[in-house]
Amino acid sequence: MLRDRIEELEARISTAAARAGRRRDSIGLVAVTKTFPAAVIAEAYQLGLRDFGENYVQEFESKAAATPLPGARFHFIGHLQANKSARAAELFDVIQTVDSARLARRLNDAPRRRAQPLEVLIEVKLSGEAAKSGAAPDELPALVSALSELPNLRLTGLMTMPPWSDDPEVSRPYFRRLRELAADLSLPRLSMGMSHDLEVAIEEGATIVRVGTALFGSRKP
Ligand SMILES: *Cc1c(COP(=O)(O)O)cnc(C)c1O
Repeated sequence: MLRDRIEELEARISTAAARAGRRRDSIGLVAVTKTFPAAVIAEAYQLGLRDFGENYVQEFESKAAATPLPGARFHFIGHLQANKSARAAELFDVIQTVDSARLARRLNDAPRRRAQPLEVLIEVKLSGEAAKSGAAPDELPALVSALSELPNLRLTGLMTMPPWSDDPEVSRPYFRRLRELAADLSLPRLSMGMSHDLEVAIEEGATIVRVGTALFGSRKP
């Protein structure tokens, strides 16, 4: 039951926050609903969740039409292709995966359904994995400075995804590094931690955890 899974997840988040001496309300939960139908988003919303993460613009397009949920916020957390950026800026409330000035300019110039600036995070690539997207740490100062010139975007933080391991401690140095980078750039939000490593992420300062499997079960490949 989703209700039970939300309760279990809530207990994990609260326990980790308490252990880290942090307030529960300093940690936001993004429920990752990729591959699940709109009905699952609606059910999670009924149970009180408000932030949802999606990885594919095209997949979310049909779900968005089916889920007009007042007060819900949709986060784009996948790799954003340039040709999908305008549509993403229209559909999503937060883009967590900005990784180049070129993509940022496209998002800035895209038509919006709201007057406020679009919230964005920079995805940072902290491992050498060729398949991963994200900006390199040494590109961050220039990217932050480019973003500060774009009036329709509001940069609030950094996001990362460490290399997969079933040992959550493997993620810790990546989360710590992300926190240090964000502190150097005076960025308040840190999006890090997923189903298997969210406790470690919270100990290292996560302000957003992105959780799919622990809420909705495993995804079909
Ligand atoms: C799928 C996904 C998640 C959720 O991962 P789970 O292990 O299912 O909790 C989080 N972040 C990103 C970027 C994802 O693509």
